[in-house]
Amino acid sequence: MSSGCDHAIEYIYQYLDDEISLAHSSRIKLHLRRCSSCMNAYEFETKLKIVIRERGHTEPPPELFDQLRTMIEEEGKQR
Ligand SMILES: [Zn+2]
Repeated sequence: MSSGCDHAIEYIYQYLDDEISLAHSSRIKLHLRRCSSCMNAYEFETKLKIVIRERGHTEPPPELFDQLRTMIEEEGKQR
């Protein structure tokens, strides 16, 4: 993890919900491009959000987290 990760993670959720200012969102985007660990976290949250929205659940089942994590890890290997 590089410096700025704490900051990025803090704002990822707001970024996902479009509750972030333009200045912050461009900072996050920049950080995500440079930092694979935050990018993975961001992708994970994005996918989770989509699944939750599609299923209409607010509490995703624990196995969903494992599925998503595996999916993201596999994608990371292909890069
Ligand atoms: Zn980071």
